[in-house]
Amino acid sequence: MNRILGTITSLDQHFDAIANGGDVYRPANCPHCRLGGLWHHGCYHRKAERSANVSESRNPVAILRFLCRACQRTCSRLPACIAPRRWYDWTMQQVVLLLMLAGCSLHQCCQRTCRSRSTIRRWRDWLHARSKQFTFFLRSRWPELGRTADPDSFWILVINSMSLTQTMVWLDQDLIVP
Ligand SMILES: [Zn+2]
Repeated sequence: MNRILGTITSLDQHFDAIANGGDVYRPANCPHCRLGGLWHHGCYHRKAERSANVSESRNPVAILRFLCRACQRTCSRLPACIAPRRWYDWTMQQVVLLLMLAGCSLHQCCQRTCRSRSTIRRWRDWLHARSKQFTFFLRSRWPELGRTADPDSFWILVINSMSLTQTMVWLDQDLIVP
């Protein structure tokens, strides 16, 4: 089961999908026992718009839950515009990573994006720590990515050609991204 739905890339699309019954989020099979025919089972709420100001914010955002009638366990899927276990979405993270990959210092990144030093350092360290594993999976699928000379050029090429959001959606099929 894909934990992230790559086709829902904005909160507007997410709200439309829920208004239309939310079936687009229903997994074909239970991720635990593989049985099909999952039932709607309410929702939980997530904050998703960290950068919006309070009056315009649509937080908290409902995430649909599904119940397996066989094993009684629940599951849910996120739209691509909400990153698992992250406060900010992938788009903001992409802006920061591209600045760092282009050679900006932590200080410059903070100034240009108004994000805290600790947030930027965390994202940089996350990519650094997972880079080998992510690179292996991505190059296995897209051999043309193997032509880059160093890790920074690799990530610039990946982000520019498929965006960080869709890269993480794809990787999340096989890996736990965070
Ligand atoms: Zn099940």
